[in-house]
Amino acid sequence: MINKILQKSKFTKDDIVFLLNAKDDDEKKLFLRSAEIKEKHVGNKVWLRGLIELSNICSKNCYYCGIRKGNKNVCRYEIQLDEVIESAKFALDNGFGSIVIQSGEIQSTKFTNKILDILQKIQQLSSPKLRVTLSCGEQTEETYRKWFDAGAERYLLRIETSNSDLYHKIHPNDSLHDFDKRIEALNVLKKIGFQTGTGVMIGLPFQTIDDLANDILFMQKMDIHMCGMGPYIEHSETPLFKYSSLLLSLRERYELALKMIAVLRIVMKDINIASTTAFQTIDSEGKKSALEIGANVLMPNLTPAKYKENYNLYNNKPGKENTISYEFNLAFEMIRNAENIVRLNEYGDSIHYSTKKE
Ligand code: SAH
Ligand code: SF4
Repeated sequence: MINKILQKSKFTKDDIVFLLNAKDDDEKKLFLRSAEIKEKHVGNKVWLRGLIELSNICSKNCYYCGIRKGNKNVCRYEIQLDEVIESAKFALDNGFGSIVIQSGEIQSTKFTNKILDILQKIQQLSSPKLRVTLSCGEQTEETYRKWFDAGAERYLLRIETSNSDLYHKIHPNDSLHDFDKRIEALNVLKKIGFQTGTGVMIGLPFQTIDDLANDILFMQKMDIHMCGMGPYIEHSETPLFKYSSLLLSLRERYELALKMIAVLRIVMKDINIASTTAFQTIDSEGKKSALEIGANVLMPNLTPAKYKENYNLYNNKPGKENTISYEFNLAFEMIRNAENIVRLNEYGDSIHYSTKKE
């Protein structure tokens, strides 16, 4: 049965459910096939994105996230412009094609302008320039346009789950956390011309395999260019923590998340897929394994050390003590161990995006 599904070029929801349920030999076959597809369509290459966690100040209250506004135990920070530029310079000097600026969601003129200042300074840094991905949540179309016009070319906004009922279970029920608005924001990003990425958390309470299969179909239907997804990991100071007894074990969530990467690679062959930190939180080989079976993007953390310990989306996030150069060397080691090649001094645009444009 699995061999037949893996050879298909179009996948039904039942096919995807079958693949996500694969165990033992079937799981091995799935991973072999996704690795083969990765090699054929995007190559055994990995692009580096320097991740800068700009601020943990957030106006939202997502029930799963450690830096939600309601968590009073967080020491809030915002990285200064010159420090951001220093990290960007490190990325540039070391051959990274791009950086990712991620932040809690802040909708204010001050924040919009800060991003504009960062983008302007980065433009002045170099030619050819560093590509910038933003991951700063939902913003107005006007703000997204300003940022795009100032040189940001990619945007990552996870849908978190494509099941609107589940979305409402893991967010407060108000206009700040509205499922339809989130979808609309993704559509606006695409319309503006961003290389657009989305993703989901895997192993959320109340989430089913059916939901995850729908998530894959959602990404396919949205025709996204990039994906960042990983296992859900509890944070003890969040409302969702009380449902911990409903969760799959960390190991099961990890395995399921790897299968999601493999299935997405098979379904959307030429998109960029990130190997995310949540994998590494559960298993010290996590990011390497995600690269082996289909991911092709790695994001070494270039957040200055003094801020890192306060960007806790979930418990036990690893690498808080790592210096920037340690992170950089670690990335090389992971890529080597995954028998992939690191690509330096290249933008690493999503092939799916570039071929659509031509
Ligand atoms: N504020 C922005 C970007 C920062 S949060 C936004 O929400 O879009 C980045 C991502 O971290 C979120 O999209 C979510 O998928 C992930 N995240 C938050 N809490 C998490 C948790 N407990 N486990 C796993 N991932 C989590
Ligand atoms: Fe804020 Fe993003 Fe965390 Fe939600 S997931 S609370 S928007 S940082």
